[in-house]
Parts: sequence; C-alpha cells; structure tokens
Amino acid sequence: MVAFEEARRLILANVKPAGVERVNLLEAVGRVLAENLTAPWDMPLWDNSAMDGYAVRSADCNGSPVSLRVSSFLPAGARAEGVTVEPGCAVRIMTGAPLPAGCDAVVPVEETDNGQQQVTLLETVISGQHIRLRGEDVGSGATFVRAGAIIRPPEVNMLATFGMALVPVYRRPTVAILSTGDELVELGRTPGPGEIINSNTLSLAAAVLETGCLPRIIGIARDNRESHLEKLGQGLQADVLITSAGVSAGDCDLVRDVLAELGAVQVFWKVAIKPGGPTAFAMHGATPVFSLPGNPVSTMITFEEFVRPALLKMLGHRQVQRPLFKAVLREDLRKKPGKGQIIRIRLEREGGRWYASSAGNQQTAILKTMVDAQALAVLPADSTSFAAGQEVDVHFYGNHLDLVEAA
Ligand code: AMP
Ligand code: MG
Repeated sequence: MVAFEEARRLILANVKPAGVERVNLLEAVGRVLAENLTAPWDMPLWDNSAMDGYAVRSADCNGSPVSLRVSSFLPAGARAEGVTVEPGCAVRIMTGAPLPAGCDAVVPVEETDNGQQQVTLLETVISGQHIRLRGEDVGSGATFVRAGAIIRPPEVNMLATFGMALVPVYRRPTVAILSTGDELVELGRTPGPGEIINSNTLSLAAAVLETGCLPRIIGIARDNRESHLEKLGQGLQADVLITSAGVSAGDCDLVRDVLAELGAVQVFWKVAIKPGGPTAFAMHGATPVFSLPGNPVSTMITFEEFVRPALLKMLGHRQVQRPLFKAVLREDLRKKPGKGQIIRIRLEREGGRWYASSAGNQQTAILKTMVDAQALAVLPADSTSFAAGQEVDVHFYGNHLDLVEAA
C-alpha cells in the first residue's frame, strides 16, 4: 500500500509528454505549445499612427491657435514612401497608417477643427504623442510566447499576426477505456435482473475529453481470462489504458493478473486513500495503465486525483494538479486514522474566505453527491477529527464560474 501523495508521485515519474506535431492554428486552441516562438519581424513593422487625425511636427504646434496646411492623406493600408510633413504642414492620417517622414506627433481629430485643406489645432501637442513605434510590441527575434503556454485567443492572434499558420503543440494521447464485469450492459439496453448499465465507460470518456485527450472506448471485458486477454490486449494499443472494476481482491478480479500476463509491470497496487483504495498502476512498455476501482464514485475520484494529472502531463501541461486552497469547515468531520479521505464539498465564498460544507452522503455508492460536489477536500491520513471552523485543503472539482461572493 502506498500513500496518496506517493502514488501520484510514482505516476508522474513514469509518464512523460507525448510527441510534438504541427497543427493548424485553430486546432491548437487549448493545447500546449511545444517550442518557444520568436518574432520573424518587428511588430509593428513600421512607426504608425495610434489615432485618426493629423501627423504634425510638434515644433510647429506651439502657440494657439495653430493652423497648418493639410498637404496629403494617408488612409489605413496606404504607403508613406514619398510623403513628408513639411514645416507648417500636416498630413491627414488614419489609425494604423505608416507615419510620413518629418513628423514626430499625431494630433487626434477630436483635438482639431477637422479641416480638410487647412486644420486648426485646439490643444497643446507633445513630441511623440499618439505614435506607435516600430517593434515596440515585439522586436524581431524576441520570444513572444514560450513553450508550455496554452494556446488561447491572444496567442492565436499573435501567431496570426506573425503569419504562423502551423503551431508546434504536444500530441493528444489516445486513451483506451475498458470496463470489466459480467453484470454490465451497454447504454441503450434495458438492464435485466442483476445487471447494471456500464456508466463508468461514459463518465471516463467524458473526463478524458475534458483533459483534451482522445478517448477510445474498448467496451466490456467479461469476468473470464479469455475476455480480459482480448480486451486488455486491445486497450494496450492506445497511448494510455484505463480499466474500471475487477481490481479488488475478489474472485472475479482478474485485471492485474491478466495485465501481468500481457507484460505490464506493476508500479503500485492499493493506495492509502478513501475512496479509491484498490487503485493499481502499471507500465506496459511506455504505456501507463490505470486500473481503477469499479464503484462509479471511486472511478471518478481516482480519475480526478491520479489519471487527470498524468494525462495533463502527457499533453505537455506544466501545472497538472489542481491548486489546493484553504476552506473553513462549516461542520465537524470525522474519519478513521491511517488513510487519507476525499470528501465531496459544497463551497461558499464569504468575506474573502472559502467555506466548505459536505455535499451530503459520502458513501462510495452515492452518485448524487458527486453531481452536487463543487470541490473535493483532501483530509490527511494521520488526523481523525476536524472541527467546524478549522481550515482544510480543498481543490475545485470541475470548473466553477458560479461560485461568487455572497452579496
Ligand atoms: P468491482 O470492482 O468489480 O467489485 O465493482 C465494484 C462496484 O462497481 C460494483 O457494484 C459494480 O457493479 C460497480 N461497477 C463496476 N463496473 C461498473 C461500470 N462500468 N459502470 C457502473 N458501475 C460499475
Ligand atoms: Mg466486477
């Protein structure tokens, strides 16, 4: 039996980022950049106007009112070669248009009489005002986004600005999902006596999809060696294999034995955590194999705590664990010593602090409190009682945009 933190450490020590591929800009969204990217040119590429207005020589603009002759017009997309702001003149210019020679300031149209042939300036003018300088955003050759960055709209914008249509990102690992058990029927069939619907395959596939990996549903291995050999063998073709159930010490629990027969090397079996105690982890060559307990709550929680960080690491993420933060207990909690415990939590924010209350019945057979849980509290192995008002470590379970400070 390994400690909770040690189990996660062993897993993360055994998995490494998947290979790198170049994909189209929009296919890269949400994925992790695999290389530092450097600017192929200055951005902006030329000095240009930050406003619609007039390019002027600031030295001409002392004294009031100042009137200048409008000698030329530079709309967006125009070229500034051959255009010069002569003394006593102004060039009408649009936002983003290249600055003509001779000028050192732009006067916004709102600070003028908007004249077409002759323009009168209404405010003082300072050298350099409303000018964007070549390279002031990013200089040619500078790193503008680093390996490890997640591609979001700002990264997409900058890549597009630099004409980069293909992005080097980490590959999305395929993740085989195999459920085991003679009692299972697939969704769409009505369960007969003693049968239950194979819900774990679907919730695991959903959880895999949320990470950005690609689920491969293998189906159901029946509780006999031949079926396990066939289905586990199939599952080992993927980059990662996750199994559910058949990993306790029961008569029908064949997963670990058959995996060993197929050449998987066990890294650990049994973790000092509730729920999720029977979890096993093995490596089949470079393929991580997670054998999760079959109880749907245990399956989901062990995915969250053990599999998700591993998949995120394979996807190239640097932050693979959800950040822990402190929450104040609303009620007393008790547990047995010797094992850590993960509690389904409802959270409230009040006066700048988080408050945690139990989401309800914490038994592993109760699904509803998984649905209700916004966070999981991780209670350490050595403590047994936690009093209301005491702080515990929690992390979000899923993404919660609905948790806001009570008014
Ligand atoms: P086991 O680890 O095989 O003893 O299974 C533990 C519990 O989880 C049993 O009540 C099973 O019926 C249930 N279970 C196992 N596999 C699944 C599954 N794929 N979907 C839903 N429940 C399951
Ligand atoms: Mg079973």
